[in-house]
Amino acid sequence: MRAGFSGYKVLKYFRKKRETENREEAEKARKKRKRSRRGRNMEVRYICPTAYDSSVYLVNGKVLIDAGMNSDLIIKQIEKYIKLTDLKLIILTHCHYDHTAAAAAIAEKSGAAVGIHKADLEGVNDEYLSVSVLFGDRAPAVRPTITYEEGDKIDVGDGEYLEVIHTPGHSRGSICLYEPVSKSLFSGDTVFPGGGFGRMDFEGSEPDKMIGSVEKLTKLDVKTLYSGHGAPTDRDGNKQIMASYTMLKMMMGE
Ligand SMILES: [Zn+2]
Ligand SMILES: [Zn+2]
Repeated sequence: MRAGFSGYKVLKYFRKKRETENREEAEKARKKRKRSRRGRNMEVRYICPTAYDSSVYLVNGKVLIDAGMNSDLIIKQIEKYIKLTDLKLIILTHCHYDHTAAAAAIAEKSGAAVGIHKADLEGVNDEYLSVSVLFGDRAPAVRPTITYEEGDKIDVGDGEYLEVIHTPGHSRGSICLYEPVSKSLFSGDTVFPGGGFGRMDFEGSEPDKMIGSVEKLTKLDVKTLYSGHGAPTDRDGNKQIMASYTMLKMMMGE
């Protein structure tokens, strides 16, 4: 039964080899999972209580991007995910009322700091620059204590940061926020999915700077687009930004 014996040995050899391979595969898969989890680590919750509020995003359970208008409704939604006092920072993408009116109440109740680009700092408390007059209200009461400029890196926890990209056009101090690992862009009212871009006919708008701003965004590698109105989309952010850029150039006759 030599053949039988060696057949058994061969079988044993292959079984052992398979076990080792399986172990190696499992280890490889585990490492890959870990890598991709790190890549998609940033946790973003989309909050939008009414059609008129800006989109509000809760990042990593501690940073809010834009604040909307209806503070009671927005706070209720934030509290679905975290204790309000866990909120550390509110970043305003620009000074407009629909993004900033609720910021004062949310900041007061949570103790969070508020940041805005330095060029929109004055506008947020101005009825015309904040466009609160269009909503029949006084200017937002929020008093940002942090000001941003191009290239600033904002720590959002878990070793992640958002890079500040100054994109004047819709307002003087509009910013977009980019997270490079997950390739996420919070675009405020500068670009919207499907080739849209922000209005440039408000007090404080700088239409001649808009093309340069959107051109800057085309240089980024973007997967998920979190814009200032409407739901986020992860359908090829690069393509959508390029569509906005093309539409804008057509409109401006360039
Ligand atoms: Zn808006
Ligand atoms: Zn706006």
